[in-house]
Amino acid sequence: MNLEHYIDGAPVPSVSGATFTALEPATNRPYLTVAAGGPEDVSAAVSAARKAFTDGPWPRMTGEERAAVLRAIAAAIETRDESIAALECRDTGLPIAQARGQARRAAQNFRFFADVITTLGEDVYRVGSAQLNYVVRKPVGVAGLITPWNTPFMLETWKLAPALAAGCPVVLKPAEWSPLSAGLLPEIMEEAGLPTGVFNLVHGIGEEAGAALVAHPDVPVISFTGETGTGRTIMRAAADGLKTLSMELGGKSPLVVFDDADLERALDAAVFGVFSLNGERCTASSRVLVQDTVYEEFVTRLAARASRVRVGSPDDPATELGALIHPEHHARVMEYVRTGVEEGARLVAGGSRPEALPDGNFLAATVFADVTPGMRIFQEEIFGPVVCVTPFATETEALELANATRYGLAAYLWTNDLRRTHRLAQGIEAGMLWVNSQNVRDLRTPFGGVKASGLGREGGRHSIDVYTESHIVHLATEDLPIPRFGIAEPA
Ligand code: NAD
Repeated sequence: MNLEHYIDGAPVPSVSGATFTALEPATNRPYLTVAAGGPEDVSAAVSAARKAFTDGPWPRMTGEERAAVLRAIAAAIETRDESIAALECRDTGLPIAQARGQARRAAQNFRFFADVITTLGEDVYRVGSAQLNYVVRKPVGVAGLITPWNTPFMLETWKLAPALAAGCPVVLKPAEWSPLSAGLLPEIMEEAGLPTGVFNLVHGIGEEAGAALVAHPDVPVISFTGETGTGRTIMRAAADGLKTLSMELGGKSPLVVFDDADLERALDAAVFGVFSLNGERCTASSRVLVQDTVYEEFVTRLAARASRVRVGSPDDPATELGALIHPEHHARVMEYVRTGVEEGARLVAGGSRPEALPDGNFLAATVFADVTPGMRIFQEEIFGPVVCVTPFATETEALELANATRYGLAAYLWTNDLRRTHRLAQGIEAGMLWVNSQNVRDLRTPFGGVKASGLGREGGRHSIDVYTESHIVHLATEDLPIPRFGIAEPA
């Protein structure tokens, strides 16, 4: 199977003819040859998008007109949701049952931003009867969208929908480890009637195709989701062009359990929070902090549940934990498991490949207890099915531990004490907190992290802010005083 770029409404190979190979995570067999974009391909895609911006209809359409196309895109996704889920499952190793949820969410992203753009107001400021100041939101220009390999189709649409809603033509650079489902986007966009040149897709290696997109002078905004280290590289590269950046980066999110919580529900949330999506989830609850009074009981129950998580072939509907994305990533996660053991953490579940799955990137759901803040497995993002459990005695200690990493993406709090909830909600360093809940998204709310987890927010109006410039018009409705210079008699 071959995958090409999509530039100015047509599939094209790389100018250089370069390609790369994608592997199937469940077997590590190569199954896809993909065009490897370079600066010339990115330039062609940006030129097409730039032309669509300066001369095309898309930025000039009304919100209603663009929303109609976005709804048609959602419908086109829905008619393909089984095939999107199947491609995603094969390409990323995500269990099919969870891949179906991602395909549905992708359609929802377009419907949601269709609603946002049709209901979005612009601000007016009156200064008595003398002045009327109004704000016009203008699409910022060509948007460069760079996405990671976890839940690729969902994350691509999470950026495409608001960028298109705002009126920006786009160049999308999907992750090289999961390029497959993005290959469906050209036919979806064509079927929905998106004007030619508005959607462009360049595959390729991050340091080549991604870097060329960041460096391109005609791309004023980059929305990036990926690792914190890559985010830093992109920020440095974007500094010369003074670009708008939206950075959704890594996480090491705590799930804090107090002894007054509903422990069974907290356990459900802890297990689902770190083992769903193969643990390759930016908001994974990968550190579980448990009050010492219920610590041993919680560790025992968490280990028992983890050891029953069904690891298996991604295309089996009963599978709960599939194959990790790539052999290199599998090796990296396994290295963390070894590190955890060497650092003295207590391995209470998993830690190795299930015997029945000798090939592919499989790892049993893994639980380390007695993890301390000085350990690397406490501090670093593992991005796999590995959870660290740490005891605490007091609320103060819980807060210190929750905040004791460089990350600050999400946090989860389990307690029935209302006043404690509010105290911790103020103190926890995270962009998003869920209380007595798993990670349930409300697409209207700001999504993003603090500290090393990101810069800026997307979601609802926050996404529209990324892709628009606010232009203020000051209109005098009365004669405002103007200091008169140059009217004095010469001295
Ligand atoms: P990554 O940073 O390796 O790659 C992400 C994208 O950046 C890929 O498309 C890659 O090709 C590209 N890239 C790499 N180097 C580049 C460069 N120099 N210039 C431009 N582009 C470049 O991340 P990944 O391994 O694909 O994804 C996993 C990471 O993503 C994890 O850290 C995870 O936490 C994070 N993530 C964050 C969120 C969030 O919303 N905060 C969501 C999902 C994933």
